[in-house]
Amino acid sequence: MKTYDIIVIGGGAAGSMAAIRAGQLKKKVLLAERNDSIGRKILITGKGRCNLTNTADIDVFIEKFGKPGEFLRTAFYHFSNQDLIDLFNSLGLETKSERQGRVFPVTDKAASVIDALKKALAESGVEISYGTRINEIAKKGDLFGIVSDDGREFRAKKIILAAGGASYKATGSTGDGFVIAEKLGHKIALLTPGLVPLTVKEAWVKELQGVALENIRVAFEYGKKRLMSDIGELMFTHFGVSGPLVLDLSSKVMEILKEHKEIRLLIDLKPGLRQEQLESKLLHKFKVKGNIILKNLMKDLLPQRLVERFLRNLRIREDLKTNQVTQAQRRAIIDTLKGFPMTVTGSLPIEEAMVTGGGISLKEINPRTMESKLVPGLYFAGELIEGAAASGGYNLQQAFSTGHLAASEAAKCVK
Ligand SMILES: Cc1cc2nc3c(=O)[nH]c(=O)nc-3n(C[C@H](O)[C@H](O)[C@H](O)COP(=O)(O)OP(=O)(O)OC[C@H]3O[C@@H](n4cnc5c(N)ncnc54)[C@H](O)[C@@H]3O)c2cc1C
Repeated sequence: MKTYDIIVIGGGAAGSMAAIRAGQLKKKVLLAERNDSIGRKILITGKGRCNLTNTADIDVFIEKFGKPGEFLRTAFYHFSNQDLIDLFNSLGLETKSERQGRVFPVTDKAASVIDALKKALAESGVEISYGTRINEIAKKGDLFGIVSDDGREFRAKKIILAAGGASYKATGSTGDGFVIAEKLGHKIALLTPGLVPLTVKEAWVKELQGVALENIRVAFEYGKKRLMSDIGELMFTHFGVSGPLVLDLSSKVMEILKEHKEIRLLIDLKPGLRQEQLESKLLHKFKVKGNIILKNLMKDLLPQRLVERFLRNLRIREDLKTNQVTQAQRRAIIDTLKGFPMTVTGSLPIEEAMVTGGGISLKEINPRTMESKLVPGLYFAGELIEGAAASGGYNLQQAFSTGHLAASEAAKCVK
């Protein structure tokens, strides 16, 4: 049986980068991927355009990961966003940056990122074994023996486990990495959905499915306490709310929901206007438009489908004319424009989350090398490591950086 210097398990962003790096360092490398191609998940990132990194400073990357961010410091400095961009450029993949520093390939196609990775894998002499689902790793003396689900055996001096998280399972990331690591004695921090749509209690939300709101502010509250708030874009779904703003805040919301069964979501539909300004705007409209049906006037302020639900929630008749609106009703309209309320109860399941929170405990991985503290010679890379960030290219950079670091360190230890 052939003995490899390094076997990388999983050909996603982290595993492909790890294999490329190990190959560049002239190691004998096998990349074992269960699918018939690398990077299935990369294909669907950034709505098919792949937001591969961000132009932000490294400190921002660290911040984006919250508490686990510090753990990633060495990896982000070792192989930075600029290093990644330079590598892709050298492979013929030009990149561009868009709003909030999000970096995309100029082709606007995630497939071209995969093509570049395939080119680099070939150039660095990596052997790829497709259709190879690894389900066991055992250490025999100084060597690792790994076995695929169809009984094939492989041998290596070092292993890099990069089998991804447990979301979007159709892409191949079914959580195998956690099972394998657990069998080797590793603790798995509770797996939680990250970047995930939220569910709400109000059944009427179904009527609003597909309604998108731009430049609104959401605030999450428990009792009288405001827990967090931010401005951006939200979309109603048949079960609750989604859209970039909601996805980005979802991990924190899910943390809070571990303690409280439900929390209040308030949507400020007019964040640019104070209460008084909104009132004079409304009064002005009443004057200018004359005595018309309130519902029709409200369409100037809100998407049509939201207007009906908005008035129904306030128990205001749809055919009410503007000169019939009482002062109390006007106040209620203004209050609700500044805080359209809903009750958040949870999220879609982890399978439908963009990233997996939790993962292989950071306490058991050396942050300088990505090597297991329990099993020398075993390294981890990518999403299976505890922690996840908001959207913006930070998660893919984490995968590329940890993959690159793990391979550099593993290669050092192979003679
Ligand atoms: C819809 C969606 C959009 C996203 N958009 C972005 C974005 O634009 N920017 C961003 O930064 N992040 C984005 N992400 C997150 C990003 O895709 C992940 O953070 C990243 O792909 C993680 O890389 P990885 O290599 O660790 O895992 P994965 O990409 O999941 O790769 C793991 C690989 O391991 C293979 N594998 C699994 N088990 C085994 C096994 N037992 N044996 C062999 N192979 C195995 C899988 O088939 C897979 O190829 C998005 C995620 C989703 C779901």
